[in-house]
Amino acid sequence: MDLGIRGKRALVCASSKGLGLGCAEALAAAGVDLVMNARGAEALEVSADRIRSEHGVTVKTVACDVTSADGQEQVIQAADGVDILVTNAGGPPPGMWSDWDREDFIMALDANMLTPIAFMKALLPNMMENGWGRVVNITSQSVRAPIAVLGLSNAARTGLTGYVAGTSRQVAPMGVTINNLLPGIHDTDRANSLDSGVAAQKGISIDEARADRAATIPTRRYGTRQEFGAACAFLCSKHAGFIVGQNILLDGGATNITM
Ligand code: NAP
Repeated sequence: MDLGIRGKRALVCASSKGLGLGCAEALAAAGVDLVMNARGAEALEVSADRIRSEHGVTVKTVACDVTSADGQEQVIQAADGVDILVTNAGGPPPGMWSDWDREDFIMALDANMLTPIAFMKALLPNMMENGWGRVVNITSQSVRAPIAVLGLSNAARTGLTGYVAGTSRQVAPMGVTINNLLPGIHDTDRANSLDSGVAAQKGISIDEARADRAATIPTRRYGTRQEFGAACAFLCSKHAGFIVGQNILLDGGATNITM
């Protein structure tokens, strides 16, 4: 399917690895020029080089922490005028509801709620002026059904979801859509590090921890970054202009809900 976005420009935050990289790759395959970001310059340059050579698109890189004010300024400057915004950042650490203090919540809110909001506030006006734009926020299945050990994520991402629900309806008249993609368990470094934590806690191997988690998913496997990226690219396509303010679960059926 021709996604109809060849020649457009996208910012994909936190995209040297994992789900962000999957989105960058799928957009590049559709002919979209990219601004990519991550804190670590080395992995970022490796991914950017590979995308340039595989897809022939232009890729600008900005190595910085996207959750810091200074990092946001650098990325927004490099991404001035983009047509497509994919927000992403690392997820908060796991723990118990009783572990976290005000500072822990402030950090999670900064990374997973206020950072995507800052990017939308900076980059939506140009999209609205052009009469076309796409925003996809990478959130989590924890928005639909809380994950006990990820209370910081449950809280921060639900706040972002409320903001998107209201804002998406205000920008849609100008041809701009905002939607959220809610990953379930995907095969990325983040999933591996959560599996390592469970393995250490239960005294089992990482492979056993992974098999236990895969068994909770109706597909009996983790999702891939390529599957995730393809869904993101479709939401950014010309075909997705009537999809507004939605929260789309990509979880292999793991969240046991009817709607
Ligand atoms: P990942 O494999 O660990 O990749 C994270 C990517 O983001 C890396 O490129 C990393 O590069 C970059 N990054 C992290 N923090 C950053 C920051 N502050 N500023 C700039 N770049 C940053 O993670 P993932 O699995 O793709 O997860 C992406 C998001 O989806 C996370 O918020 C995660 O909580 C959420 N999620 C993931 C899953 C899953 O199963 N994978 C499930 C639900 C939700 P650097 O480290 O070099 O910065």
